[in-house]
Amino acid sequence: MTKILELKDLNVSFKIEEELFKAVNNVSFALEKGQVLGIVGESGCGKSVTAMSILKLLASNAIIESGEILFNGQNLLEFSNKEMQHLRGSKIALIPQDPLTSLNPLYTIGDQIIETIKHHRKVETKEARELAIKALQDVKIPEAESRINEYPHHFSGGMSQRVLIAMALCCNPEVIIADEPTTALDVTVQAQILDLIKELQKERNTSLIFITHDLGVIAEFCDYVAVMYAGQIVEYADVKELFNNPLHPYTKGLFESLPTPNKEELKVIKGQPPSITEDIPGCTFHPRCPFKMENCDKEEPPKIDKENGHYVSCYLY
Ligand code: SF4
Repeated sequence: MTKILELKDLNVSFKIEEELFKAVNNVSFALEKGQVLGIVGESGCGKSVTAMSILKLLASNAIIESGEILFNGQNLLEFSNKEMQHLRGSKIALIPQDPLTSLNPLYTIGDQIIETIKHHRKVETKEARELAIKALQDVKIPEAESRINEYPHHFSGGMSQRVLIAMALCCNPEVIIADEPTTALDVTVQAQILDLIKELQKERNTSLIFITHDLGVIAEFCDYVAVMYAGQIVEYADVKELFNNPLHPYTKGLFESLPTPNKEELKVIKGQPPSITEDIPGCTFHPRCPFKMENCDKEEPPKIDKENGHYVSCYLY
């Protein structure tokens, strides 16, 4: 199958008081049509920075230092701002984390979806409105014809997230990036939103990058998983393989801290993930790793292909 999106050795740093601190370190992965890749890891591990690099929507002090982001073979890092503006939403779309801060409170839901459609497609307002109503119906918003005239504050958190999904899908993008799309929602509506994203992704055969800190979500959704720690992918495998045979001590720690019905005791990964300003020699997980060996704090472990595309960066292998 052809690769729709491919990241090759991406390195992103943040400039803080004239010093560069690495947030994404040699990240590589590929996504084919209709595939779902989950990126999992604790807060601050570089998941969102990786995703936002694809859309070139990074903070002003972020610098993409090297690497390639290939979309249908074209390197997005060589795209102008204008080209990126056209691509965002029409080819690669984002479902953001927080629906309440992502919608403009001063405009109706309809105005916001219609504007997105008209920005990317040569259609008159009347047709754009019809497409917007259809997009709201697709995400199961009842009475879409009248609700399109309402403002964001008339919508609950779950309904607002449905609106954002409608906006992301209204131009039929080839890739969707969902950045922890249920984190800001009540537990009761989280499952509904996940089911909706899954249903629409399958129906349209869209490629999806799903960013989460929740391995349960990964199990339900994804074909492949990249486990990130301190800006690096420390393990990568297809979802069944990762769940049956996790290799990296960090991945194992994530599984051990997952609540499951028969588990008597939940283990936690000791310590905290490092801050971006910390320079940790060798394996960045060594201060927290129960299997640390002599070499681990000296040199960065290489990426090993265990078998069938199951990669791990750890001296145990
Ligand atoms: Fe632990 Fe060493 Fe493997 Fe790092 S390289 S995860 S410190 S065993």
